[in-house]
Amino acid sequence: WEDPSAMVTALVADEADAWDRAGLLPVPLLRELGAAGWLCAQVPVVSGGRGLSSAAAGEFTAHVGSLCSSLRSVMTSQGMAAWTIERFGTAEQRAAFLPRLTGGGLAAAGFSERAAGSDLSAMTTRVRRDGDSVVLDGHKVWVTAAHYADLLVLFGRYDGSGDRGEDAGAVGGGEAVAVVVPADTPGVRVTRVADPLGCRAAGHADVALDAVRVPAGHVLGGSSLPLPLLVTTALAYGRMSVAWGCVGILRGCLTAATRHAATREQFGVPLGEHQLVARHLAELYVAEQTATRVCEHASRCWDDGSPEQVVATVLAKHVSAGNAARGAATAVQVLASAAARDGHVVARAHRDAKLMEIIEGSNEMCQLMLARHLLGRTV
Ligand code: FAD
Repeated sequence: WEDPSAMVTALVADEADAWDRAGLLPVPLLRELGAAGWLCAQVPVVSGGRGLSSAAAGEFTAHVGSLCSSLRSVMTSQGMAAWTIERFGTAEQRAAFLPRLTGGGLAAAGFSERAAGSDLSAMTTRVRRDGDSVVLDGHKVWVTAAHYADLLVLFGRYDGSGDRGEDAGAVGGGEAVAVVVPADTPGVRVTRVADPLGCRAAGHADVALDAVRVPAGHVLGGSSLPLPLLVTTALAYGRMSVAWGCVGILRGCLTAATRHAATREQFGVPLGEHQLVARHLAELYVAEQTATRVCEHASRCWDDGSPEQVVATVLAKHVSAGNAARGAATAVQVLASAAARDGHVVARAHRDAKLMEIIEGSNEMCQLMLARHLLGRTV
């Protein structure tokens, strides 16, 4: 396929509703997209990726988001795992892990725990050094795509007391580590989250870790880092991807609502001729255009390496998620009973978009970050 958007349109066809109802994406499709590098399209060519700019990957993400938010969620997780490996991994680790993620392997990234949602400093997953290995104990929750993943990028507190000899400095200092854990490692137990509100086929799962032993070489960068640096960097990719995914949700809603308002008649005229319905359409258009512009700006910051990147990304995520949640609700209003069925594209968007206001930094956490920026503090 020359055009990845046309490829995904053909692969998804009209299946998104069925996948949503079944709560499952077809794994061969995920592997096909992954093996062609499209699940994490920003990975550099040298690491087997597509090397797309943030702007180009963003437009692609929006297209996938307009078709199926579950598939887009899997892309976000794969991209976030790949970005964490790229950003923190050594050259050897990049060479070992990234080609797997651009070669059909599937990945997920786990931060959240029962007592550590918005407040990731409450994370208690422990990573203990034991000779040439590290041992993980803990419990991650709501890890998107974990049900499908071959590799899990997991974040935890580092306990380096088992370091010895020349290895002592290899994983030491700082606070936290990101570890690449093959999902079939003994002690890993992946349990699906039952009946999620939206993105039902995204493979959300809890991940229990009971004395999970992996080589110390799976600790990214071989050393621990301040937890805020580690999670903020990884989440930044997720925020950008979710923001573009929300642009896609808005585009799907805009198309459905406009078509419906142009064709269904009540009181002898198309719905769109009624001024209050026309206002809904205008608001939806404003929501989509505004989200697109903030995402384009943030992606430009990524592509230019601008110091504004962090704030622009939080802004893009906050604006796009809020616009998508409100825009999807507006679209349901325009379609009324025509969308009041489980599985309708707009009903699905309504459920999916609400979750986007919770993840990768909730609305409230984004607002706090933006205020901190204004007050001259670290975001
Ligand atoms: P809480 O932190 O308990 O927050 C509850 C409410 O209180 C929210 O509205 C929040 O904004 C508000 N709140 C909390 N603290 C403050 C404050 N200081 N000031 C103002 N308001 C506050 N986690 C992963 O690690 N990996 C994933 O791939 C992943 N995917 C997810 C996918 C979905 C669909 C969902 C629903 C969750 C996912 N999560 C994932 C978990 C997600 O990151 C958390 O749900 C999120 O961080 C919020 O945490 P919480 O649900 O515990 O809510």
